[in-house]
Amino acid sequence: MLRLCALSSGSSGNALFIESEETRILVDAGISARELTKRLACLGVKPYELSGILITHEHSDHIRGLQVFTKKNQIPVYCTSHTWKFLAVQGVSEICRRVIDSDGSFSVGDLEIEAFPTPHDAADPVGYCVTWQNSKIGIATDLGYIPEYLREKFRQSQMIFLEANHDVPTLLGGKYPHFLKKRILGNLGHLSNDTAAELLAELAGESLQAIVLGHLSRNNNTPEMALSTVQKKLANHCKKADNIAIHVCRHGELGEIISI
Ligand SMILES: [Zn+2]
Ligand SMILES: [Zn+2]
Repeated sequence: MLRLCALSSGSSGNALFIESEETRILVDAGISARELTKRLACLGVKPYELSGILITHEHSDHIRGLQVFTKKNQIPVYCTSHTWKFLAVQGVSEICRRVIDSDGSFSVGDLEIEAFPTPHDAADPVGYCVTWQNSKIGIATDLGYIPEYLREKFRQSQMIFLEANHDVPTLLGGKYPHFLKKRILGNLGHLSNDTAAELLAELAGESLQAIVLGHLSRNNNTPEMALSTVQKKLANHCKKADNIAIHVCRHGELGEIISI
């Protein structure tokens, strides 16, 4: 069994906890070390029990707590060489460095990990598929659009953790300055509820059991809007939509534990 819990999701900080029977990892460490430790404790997990931290990219909402957290616990940090340069500047210890290819595979304990590039305005951003035996979780946040290869990567996933960043009319009608709206909507920005829903509807007929919507904007989205957009799309495109559990991460809050 694979379990996932969003310790925090959204622009104020991103960190996912994933565990198999034997291995525990984080994807990103974007909240303070103190908060990471506290939220892991809520799950009964000690920092030293983690076998690795996979980093998606160097934006502060994904690495905020990394330096302090790994200094205390010396947990291996997996990231691309371009991303590492930024982490080194932040003072993350060389001892923790584990360089990966942006389209490579590697294992952490009994977890098989596959990285893939994501279109985002960072040095070398990636998403991940995490597989344990026959269970697979696909994870992609911070992406401006859905590249064709992502559909293939996510096929046969039992769980997908996908960004549903904003509701387009809310963003366009909101107070953000023009340049910021353009950045978010651009090809290297963030995924809208509609675009996320389209991909999920395409993948829903297969092995998918659980969807987790994450990285919601505090200002341009609500959990209710993200949920209803995805629910509607799934209901229209997939006969088995009722069999798929849809979870939404509330901005910055500790999420529920979801198992596949
Ligand atoms: Zn980012
Ligand atoms: Zn982000």
